[in-house]
Amino acid sequence: MSEKQNQVEAPVKEKKKYFTAETKKKKERLMRCTYNDCENTFIAFPHARFCEYHKDPTTRPKTKRVEKNTMFKFPHEYNVKILIERACDCCGKPYRLEIYPGREDYPCFCEEHQNDWKRKHWKMNHVEK
Ligand SMILES: [Zn+2]
Ligand SMILES: [Zn+2]
Repeated sequence: MSEKQNQVEAPVKEKKKYFTAETKKKKERLMRCTYNDCENTFIAFPHARFCEYHKDPTTRPKTKRVEKNTMFKFPHEYNVKILIERACDCCGKPYRLEIYPGREDYPCFCEEHQNDWKRKHWKMNHVEK
């Protein structure tokens, strides 16, 4: 004897037959907002990440983007363009920098490492031991 509950009016499960991956994908479920410290839950498609409040870009507090400082100040009083050499903050290789009159902000990386991705890549290959 099975322990199944006897249901007088068992619903006909004819839909199950057509339950494909596509219908599954569209199924909404209870989700939890992934925004920092947000406890809200909401009904949405599985790929949703934020609750009603946080999914609206106008109400969602902007995550502070840490702007990596890629520039350094070079105060000077030259009134002609000069060329200096300094070590790249990433790889340490010397690179040439053109100093312009009236301009104090200059990139602190060599030409190659002004690219954020390349800096990451370089650091990955030169892990400090
Ligand atoms: Zn939220
Ligand atoms: Zn470099």
